[in-house]
Amino acid sequence: MSDTKHILVVEDEAIQRTMLVEYLTRQGFQTTGLPDGAALRRVLQRNEPDLVLLDLGLPGEDGHSLARWLRENHAKVAVIMVTAAGSTVDRIIGLETGADDYIPKPFEPRELLARIKSVLRRAVPAAAQVTGARVPMGRRVLDLEHRVLLDVDGVEERLTASEFELLRLFAENPNKPLNREWLLEATSHREAEAFDRAIDLRITRLRKKIEADPAHPDTIRTVRGVGYVFVPPEW
Ligand code: CA
Repeated sequence: MSDTKHILVVEDEAIQRTMLVEYLTRQGFQTTGLPDGAALRRVLQRNEPDLVLLDLGLPGEDGHSLARWLRENHAKVAVIMVTAAGSTVDRIIGLETGADDYIPKPFEPRELLARIKSVLRRAVPAAAQVTGARVPMGRRVLDLEHRVLLDVDGVEERLTASEFELLRLFAENPNKPLNREWLLEATSHREAEAFDRAIDLRITRLRKKIEADPAHPDTIRTVRGVGYVFVPPEW
């Protein structure tokens, strides 16, 4: 087996599709262009690519629905969503439906290439991390089944629903910077605080629970201009 990565480009506009396929082929990827979701579903019955570049606006089944289906049925396949206007709503929904990243049109080919490489790099470790129901986080362990934090002595600390949801998202996405708006959107219940600082306040509370030194956090780190990233302990 060679380690050539296989990319499926799902794009209904033929000229764009051809350009993308030619560009990615020149970059050393095995690349296949597909016009719609029906073709994608057919191809995936036979073999799984490493990554799907998924246009949001497709005839028939749209990119959101296809991303969700990929996440549920082909969890190892990385997904980059290509959104039309680059609106915040599209971006949030794109990531929420299970895309690993998104890129707004129009984009520079080199920007796309950087995103693809970054997503492919983190695809394997991220999938390997979430095994079992207990995830070490800082000085504590998150018990996904019982929705509590555990000490080394097994002492439990209860979590609110939103705290647990937030830690679960981090646990499922180790070493991946997570956008603040998306974290807020994904963990807010409708009646909860809708302002932006809410996520920062929740992070501060959680750091007190899991960091060895909450003033100098090294488990849930701040990513300037983006949000936060969970860095698993290195044992
Ligand atoms: Ca389109």
